[in-house]
Amino acid sequence: MERNVAIIGAGVSGLTCGIVLAEHGYRIAIFAKDIAQQTTSSVAAAVWFPYHVEPAERVIPLALETYQVLLDLAGVPDTGVSMIESRQFSRTGEIEIPDWAIPLGASVIPSLSVVSSGVETSLAKDPSFFKSGFSLSVPLTDTTIYLDYLAARFRKAGGEIHSNVRFEKPEDVERKFGLVINCAGIGARELVQDADLEPHRGQVAIVPKIQGLSTAIVCDDAPLTYAIPRANDCVFGGTNELSDSLTADPATTLRIVTECSRALNVDKPRVLAERVGLRPFRKSGVRIERGQLRDGRTVIHNYGHGGAGFTLSWACAREVLEAAAL
Ligand SMILES: Cc1cc2nc3c(=O)[nH]c(=O)nc-3n(C[C@H](O)[C@H](O)[C@H](O)COP(=O)(O)OP(=O)(O)OC[C@H]3O[C@@H](n4cnc5c(N)ncnc54)[C@H](O)[C@@H]3O)c2cc1C
Repeated sequence: MERNVAIIGAGVSGLTCGIVLAEHGYRIAIFAKDIAQQTTSSVAAAVWFPYHVEPAERVIPLALETYQVLLDLAGVPDTGVSMIESRQFSRTGEIEIPDWAIPLGASVIPSLSVVSSGVETSLAKDPSFFKSGFSLSVPLTDTTIYLDYLAARFRKAGGEIHSNVRFEKPEDVERKFGLVINCAGIGARELVQDADLEPHRGQVAIVPKIQGLSTAIVCDDAPLTYAIPRANDCVFGGTNELSDSLTADPATTLRIVTECSRALNVDKPRVLAERVGLRPFRKSGVRIERGQLRDGRTVIHNYGHGGAGFTLSWACAREVLEAAAL
C-alpha cells in the first residue's frame, strides 16, 4: 500500500481528504494553486444541503453520512460548525419535503404568517412572496472559521500544505509520491481534461449581521435567494449560471441585496464584500474513482461536487480512504 500521498487542491475536498488519510497513518502533502480562503470553498455559505449535484441515488447517502460527522463537529468548540434551522421556501406552490429529509425531522411550516419570532415574522407582510415552506435542522459550516480549522487539524495530523503550486497535469507531481489524489474542484477541467465539468458560477454579498435573523432562509425558485446568518456576518445570495467569470457584477449584487431584503422585510444593508465562486458541476455526476496516471502511478479523483462540496465532504473522503487501501 502506498503511504506517500500528494493531494492536489486545498479546498474543502482536499483538506478533508488530507485529514482522513493523515489520521489513518498516511504521509500527506497538499499542493495547491490557492489555499483555503482563496478557493471556491471559501465563497460557499456553506449550509449542509444536497443542492445542485448529481446523481441523487449516489449523493443522498454521501450527504446523510456527512451530516452525522458535521453534527458531531457542531459539538466541538472552535470548528466553525453549528446546527441551524434552515427554512426552504417555494414561490410557486406547495413545496415538497424530499423523502431523505423526513428522518432528519423536516416539517412543513404550517402558516407563513406565523413563521417565527424576530425578523422572519415580517415575511408575512407580503403573503404572496413565498407560497409554502418546510424547515429542517442542518449543519452550517462557517467557512471563515471551518477552513482554518480543517487546515490546522490536517497539519496537527502531520500533513504539509504547499501553496502557489499549479500543475499542468497530475503526472507533474514529484515522483516520490506514489499516490496522487485529485481534489482540484473546477480546476480538474484542465488538469485531467474533463469536458464534463462545468463552472456554475455563484455570486454572493456579505453583509453585516441582520438583527433577529437566526434561521437560514432559502428559496431555490428563480431568482435564487438565500440569507445565511453566520457568527460575525450574513451571506446573501445568490446566482447559479454557466460562466467562467470570477468578477463580481455590481448589478447582480444590487439584485441579490434587494431580493433578500424584500424577503426578510428589512432595509437594504451595506455590502461588506462581494464574492464569486465556480461550483464544479459535473454533468455525469460526482467523480470518486481510482485510476492510473500515464506514468503508472495510482490516482484517485475526488471532484465534481457542484453546489454540495461541504455537504458531501466527509463521506467522499471516507470513499477516497477506501480506494487508497485497495
Ligand atoms: C456561491 C456558492 C455557494 C455555495 N454554497 C454551498 C453550500 O451552501 N453548501 C455546500 O455544501 N456547498 C456549497 N457550494 C459548493 C462548494 O463551494 C463546492 O462544491 C466546493 O467548494 C468544492 O470544493 P473543492 O475542494 O472540491 O474545490 P475548490 O474549493 O475549488 O478547491 C480546489 C483546489 O484545487 C486547486 N487547484 C485547482 N487546479 C489546480 C492545479 N491545476 N494545480 C494545483 N492546484 C489546483 C485550487 O487552487 C484549490 O486549492 C457553494 C458554492 C458557491 C460558489
